[in-house]
Amino acid sequence: MRLIFLGPPGVGKGTQAQRLSGRLRIPKISTGDILREAVEKKTELGVRARGYMESGGLVPDEVVVGIIRERIKEPDAAGGFILDGFPRTRPQAEALDRMLGDRNEGIDAVLDFKLSEMQLIERLSGRRSCPGCNAIYHVEFNPPRQMGRCDRCGEPLVQRKDDHPEPIRKRLEVYRAQTVPLIDYYQSRGRRLEIDGSGTPEEVFRKVTAAIDPIQ
Ligand code: AMP
Repeated sequence: MRLIFLGPPGVGKGTQAQRLSGRLRIPKISTGDILREAVEKKTELGVRARGYMESGGLVPDEVVVGIIRERIKEPDAAGGFILDGFPRTRPQAEALDRMLGDRNEGIDAVLDFKLSEMQLIERLSGRRSCPGCNAIYHVEFNPPRQMGRCDRCGEPLVQRKDDHPEPIRKRLEVYRAQTVPLIDYYQSRGRRLEIDGSGTPEEVFRKVTAAIDPIQ
């Protein structure tokens, strides 16, 4: 299955993509994770992307399109994938359609996650991430077993630089301006499934699996 997880920052796309990736045995491909790793390693890509990311802006389309073009060619993505955080603009969506079209493939469904702005801010402000394996936690709603440590790999958890009030505000604004138009783009192509992102990660996961079961 080839799936897109669409929705504002903080809605839980990454957490749900991680769970579904395990269930369906297809990789979760997150442009944000790939870019953060590049920033961490100070590669050429990372040096180029860092400023955009820390301010909460978008990395240029051609950069992220290039990342995805290469990543979906990897053998682990041959049987499908979950795109988390890509596409985020109309040119990215069109580039993805062309890329998949060239391979006679297409997207099976776009899961469009919804949540109130107040809850988004609450989730983003309390989010903690594992720099080792990219697992995602929340200090209150989804805490690790041992405070400040990843359950999966034991690394100390960090708060992302863009999970602070000013970048959060900017990211929500960028989402409204650049990414919301994709809702209509996929709706008009008949591939959009709406998911209510409220509730615990378990509750939301049940909604996700209920939505995709009929199309599997
Ligand atoms: P995320 O982890 O998805 O919240 O992404 C973190 C940051 O990485 C974003 O705020 C952007 O700066 C950058 N980024 C991730 N995915 C994309 C994308 N598809 N297009 C442009 N920038 C992106």
